[in-house]
Amino acid sequence: MTIYSHSSLSSFSNYQLKYRFKYIDRVKIPEFTSVEAFVGQRVHKVLQKLYDDLAFGKLNSLDELLLVYRAMWEQEWTPSVKIVNSSYSSSDYFRSGAECIRKFYEKNRPFQQSQTLGTEQSLVFAVDEGGKHQLRGVIDRIARRDDGTYEIHDYKTSKRLPPQSAADNDRQLALYQIGIAGRWNDVQRVELHWHYVRFGVTLRSSRTAEQLTQLRARTVSLIEQIESAKQFEPHKSQLCHWCEYKCVCPLWKHVLRVALLPAAESMADDGVRLADEYAEAKREENAIKERIENLRARIIAFAQQESATVLQGSAARVSVNTREKISFPAQDTSQRKGLEDFLRQEGKWDQVAALSNAKLLRVLAEEAWPLTLLEKLGAFALREPSTTLRVTAAHDANEDSTEYVPSVGAQGDDRIEARGAGGGVDPEDEGDG
Ligand code: SF4
Repeated sequence: MTIYSHSSLSSFSNYQLKYRFKYIDRVKIPEFTSVEAFVGQRVHKVLQKLYDDLAFGKLNSLDELLLVYRAMWEQEWTPSVKIVNSSYSSSDYFRSGAECIRKFYEKNRPFQQSQTLGTEQSLVFAVDEGGKHQLRGVIDRIARRDDGTYEIHDYKTSKRLPPQSAADNDRQLALYQIGIAGRWNDVQRVELHWHYVRFGVTLRSSRTAEQLTQLRARTVSLIEQIESAKQFEPHKSQLCHWCEYKCVCPLWKHVLRVALLPAAESMADDGVRLADEYAEAKREENAIKERIENLRARIIAFAQQESATVLQGSAARVSVNTREKISFPAQDTSQRKGLEDFLRQEGKWDQVAALSNAKLLRVLAEEAWPLTLLEKLGAFALREPSTTLRVTAAHDANEDSTEYVPSVGAQGDDRIEARGAGGGVDPEDEGDG
């Protein structure tokens, strides 16, 4: 049985091909850690140490924690840590992590708001009544207040502070609330806390029983969608720059290979030559189309001026034929509706109405009908490979823009899985370990 996580569910919803690479094909890729994830993981470890030591009655000073952070950074930094945004150096990232620790420490000292029950707590739990659909996750810290309220804490090192509405709609910690419900008998009230440590801000939210029931249903439905998925399309976005599967992704593999070649060698690459030749041919085609349009207008003007319908050239003749063109009102206009009403009233509709291929394709793509109907419709569909080519600039305008804006729920709960597989870290794990 597949055990899902918030990260794997998000991956399917947002980056289907990456989901396939990571969770189905389990593609082996060179070790990759974004610097944002590296910072986030170190900050998490330091805050974990803070609370683990508190359980033994030891309160580390801020300076002690910053020394631990520096030692971890120096020991654990490897060449596989990737800095995507070259405007910043590793020292800048180091300082940003230290600042996160300082802000958290100063805001929460003396750390007695609640009693910590555990840090980095792994959970595996069923999201449905029958226990068919299982989820896993890792809670940064679970705590209980004197009034019996349980707290689920999550540390975020994101560069953006999301609005409260994002916390109120976040899926990850709400799923963890479902996960801890069976752990202790007295779990009645639960609060969800997101510590945006870069800002020294904590967002808090809670869920009603009804919201949790709806979340269970939505999660089961998403899992069923994953399990019935046949196609996993690539979706190009800014997050591709943090994707560890970029080197095997069909959108990027040739782009990356060419980028690594010296200029002279890249010109000998078959793909580069074909792309250049095709782009040049398309440019010529467009220029010819433009020239033909221009000539057409001049020929019509000349023919009208001369009252002639045939122009004699030295090697060809061009005929100019002008006829009345008949058309009917376009879709979605009141005239069109009038026409359709008229045809129906006169019993002529079936003689002239035709199936719309485009509408049928839209029904299939949007799954707009009940499943049984879609299956019956799908049985009529004729499928064959269709390939299109599109020419774009050699570098996207946005390709060098590397600012990543994570969402409140975009966190890494695959920590066990990622470590076990020796894999990289999700872009959505950015800054959150
Ligand atoms: S590089 Fe982009 S499109 Fe390709 S798998 Fe990764 S996220 Fe998806």
